[in-house]
Amino acid sequence: MVYSGIGISPQDVANSRYLTVPYSANLRYRWSTGAAVGRFLAELKNGKIVGRKCDKCKRVLVPPRMFCERDFIQTSKWVYVQDAGIVDTYSISYIAADASRLEKPLIVAVIRLDGTGEAGILHILGGIEPKDVMIGMRVKAVWKPKRRRVGAITDIRYFAPAGDAK
Ligand SMILES: [Zn+2]
Repeated sequence: MVYSGIGISPQDVANSRYLTVPYSANLRYRWSTGAAVGRFLAELKNGKIVGRKCDKCKRVLVPPRMFCERDFIQTSKWVYVQDAGIVDTYSISYIAADASRLEKPLIVAVIRLDGTGEAGILHILGGIEPKDVMIGMRVKAVWKPKRRRVGAITDIRYFAPAGDAK
């Protein structure tokens, strides 16, 4: 096949003999959180945690989903759950989200909130030293002050050990 025009040779590239058009893209993104996560985030702003109940497996999914991925059926209703629960599992991370090294580690945990069944929410632990964390320990959400909440999972600053043994 023969293409029209003039090709660029490696020598042209080496000598910058080609046309460029400077352009800065001003890209803005917006997306829908959907019915389930949208309400979840709005409720966080009010200091509440809401999930969706599956009538078959009886789990309350938090964060909520309109569909149970286990039973392939729609979840049936909104259920408020406690902002306290137990540590299901955890990991101590010395690496930040930007891959930099942390002096003080993050304690990332899966927390099974009271009233959810076996579903867990991923968050971080605070107010505790890594050596003192135990699977099964009770923790409670530490919320940002109401005026600083924005409707994000970070409206909960972290989960801290709870004194109320259950
Ligand atoms: Zn289910």
